[in-house]
Amino acid sequence: MGASALAAAGVALPFDLGALPAGDRSAAPNIPIVVASANGIRGVARAYDMIAKGADPLDAAIAGVNIQELDPDDQSVGLGGLPNEEGVVQLDASVMHGPTRRAGAVACLEDIATPSLVAKAVMDYTDHVFLVGEGAKRFALKMGFKPQELLTEKSRQAWLRWRANLNPGDAWIGGPPAEGARTSSANRDKVHVDANGVEYTTGTINMCAVDSRGDIGSVTTTSGMSWKIPGRVGDSPIIGAGQYCDNTVGAAGSTGRGEANIKVCGAFLAVELMRQGKSPEEALHTVMERVIAMTEKRLLGANGRPLFDLTFYAVAKDGRYAGACAYEGTQFAVADAKGARVEKCSFLFRESERPRA
Ligand code: ASP
Repeated sequence: MGASALAAAGVALPFDLGALPAGDRSAAPNIPIVVASANGIRGVARAYDMIAKGADPLDAAIAGVNIQELDPDDQSVGLGGLPNEEGVVQLDASVMHGPTRRAGAVACLEDIATPSLVAKAVMDYTDHVFLVGEGAKRFALKMGFKPQELLTEKSRQAWLRWRANLNPGDAWIGGPPAEGARTSSANRDKVHVDANGVEYTTGTINMCAVDSRGDIGSVTTTSGMSWKIPGRVGDSPIIGAGQYCDNTVGAAGSTGRGEANIKVCGAFLAVELMRQGKSPEEALHTVMERVIAMTEKRLLGANGRPLFDLTFYAVAKDGRYAGACAYEGTQFAVADAKGARVEKCSFLFRESERPRA
């Protein structure tokens, strides 16, 4: 029986609704629920099934994102992720477990397809929160993760094409035909053109799950910005930026330009705003406004609108949820008692207001 049915039947909920933020109290509790970026549509269905059968919310969310991590056709995370400027795939991920107030993260992890599980192992088996680079890989190997080449032929061809078109004066020429660099994902914050006209790709999955007791887990996993400088860390593995979870309030996470999110600790800020009484949607809009207020001039158009995409997702402990972004058109994935589906993110600006780089 879901929480709303329990509430309707007069059964006491295992948490105090009165302690929840004041925003949109009219909505009955809608748990269990799983919310993710749009590329997590298969994952939210799996995670929902798991929590409906009693699985831990973080285990369920991680199992959800594992689908994309292990899918060689998704060029935004895990196996097949687009590489850094040297053609090496470096992965970032972080997790938080609400009931036990624990967190784990890895960054610049090479050769292991499921950084979300390595982040969880950091949480479960160490006194630390965050391991990076070679140390993270050595830890993963000790934990029994199997190393493998993560650069698929499709992603190698995309890297070659980028490299060959980077600088007409260098020794890299030719490259495969300009096709196929885009990801298969439905999420629109994928392919961008920078101020010099160079195309780069971002992509990530964030997934937050609330079980029928109101316990929460959250995870974000990514191959980061394509063609990044080796060692670059985005927002995804940073607790409080790429995802954050407080079991008394809710969880939030992000996909898109990590550099813009890191400066506002967007996921933490969203959860704090929900704690203060904002609904998930109100909280995410305030976070997006803060992102824009903190954006340097070179990344804003003449109309003051951002030249990049960034999307936030949030779910409150009672199951209210939202996805929000700067420009109209992005979607996010939800699974609850009504099933798994994609919904439209709310947005600050119409697509026609997007400035040209
Ligand atoms: N947020 C990720 C990063 O900056 C990339 C993305 O979501 O597209 O690494």
